[in-house]
Amino acid sequence: MKTVAIAGSTGSIGTQTLEVLAADPDRFRVIALTAGSSWEAVAQQASLVRPDTVILDDGANAERLRAAVPKGTTVAVGENALREAVAEADVTINGIVGFAGLPATLACLGSGKRLGLANKESLIAAGPVVQRARRTVGAELVPVDSEHAAIHQCLRSNDVAERVMRLQITASGGPFRGMTKAELMEVTVAGALAHPTWAMGPKITVDSSTLMNKGLEVIEAVELFGAPAGQHGYGLGFDDIDVVVHPQSIVHSMATFSDGSTIAQLSNPDMRGPIGYALAFPDRLDHPFGGMDWTEPLTLTFEPPDREAFPCLDLAFAAGRIGGTAPAWLSASNEVAVEAFLDGRIRWSEISAIVAEVLTFHDGGTGETLEDVLDGDHHARRLATEAVLQRS
Ligand code: NAD
Ligand code: MG
Repeated sequence: MKTVAIAGSTGSIGTQTLEVLAADPDRFRVIALTAGSSWEAVAQQASLVRPDTVILDDGANAERLRAAVPKGTTVAVGENALREAVAEADVTINGIVGFAGLPATLACLGSGKRLGLANKESLIAAGPVVQRARRTVGAELVPVDSEHAAIHQCLRSNDVAERVMRLQITASGGPFRGMTKAELMEVTVAGALAHPTWAMGPKITVDSSTLMNKGLEVIEAVELFGAPAGQHGYGLGFDDIDVVVHPQSIVHSMATFSDGSTIAQLSNPDMRGPIGYALAFPDRLDHPFGGMDWTEPLTLTFEPPDREAFPCLDLAFAAGRIGGTAPAWLSASNEVAVEAFLDGRIRWSEISAIVAEVLTFHDGGTGETLEDVLDGDHHARRLATEAVLQRS
């Protein structure tokens, strides 16, 4: 039986992970749940799955949680407790949102265990540091992000790394697809949160509306699959990745080979599929989350993204090409701007403006050490907070 830790268990990825595990109770056992501050939600989850440990990042309600968890479950607070719990599990699903997910990513890979990674921000912000942790004996990174889980599956059809030429990352286009720049000046928080095909947490939903999510995913793809052939990668860079808008969200991404063949992975938009893939790999789940009915009529469409109306996409390509801590700056300034947008302090169009402004100050940090990454994150957050204040 595989033991599982869920980092960010109360969120969209976390709760869907629990659904996948509940469908196969003989195969997996949850040993740890972690959450930011939502103690009531995590207490309820603990009463159902009876984990060994529940960990809160914010300890203000730890005593209340202690009184609410079942007998045999220990409550702990903070990063050290999280590290210990993650080190113990065979698989950790990291469903924490934002840069706060970095300790779970590093603890899991650094203990030589499997990481099912939904928290793309940790890989994007701390690329070189995560890559080093990934080289720990036994460490394994299986993506949960649906596009990367799709590419991971497409690449299994192929034995010669040098024959992978390009990756196509699909995007739904979000709720504002087809809008002009002028129309985009008027969009609201409610509009940004109304995603046409996926139900997700608020931060990634806003990122989908700006196409920053796709930009982050391009950087994520280079981190996951870009290493030279022979070093577990496919020698792919930013020039080898196409972003393809596909409003139906059925084709989750594709890989194109040297003979002109393109392999795609298709299923209904249901994150339980990629979560289950990361849990069961190299085997597969025995439950068809997202399974398609191919006897029904279906039309799939593809179009290029509107890079001018959605500047976040090219800001991410630019930051990825600069490398070092530039992706950390991109991601941190975006987190600050998205939070300000969700709070009604700035307009939607100001998210990309703030990220662009902050990136002009990038100081050339290399991001080789954790300290450099933390400094970069901190610096970019401070600049983004000032940029928000100037506008609100
Ligand atoms: P969410 O907002 O629904 O949930 C976030 C979780 O993180 C919650 O459990 C929260 O308690 C926890 N958390 C927040 N701050 C924390 C902190 N400081 N320390 C510890 N835990 C903290 O977010 P989500 O939509 O589930 O997304 C989680 C991650 O997965 C993001 O990186 C997102 O980009 C990625 N992702 C999500 C989906 C999806 O369908 N939701 C799809 C692909 C990728
Ligand atoms: Mg995705």
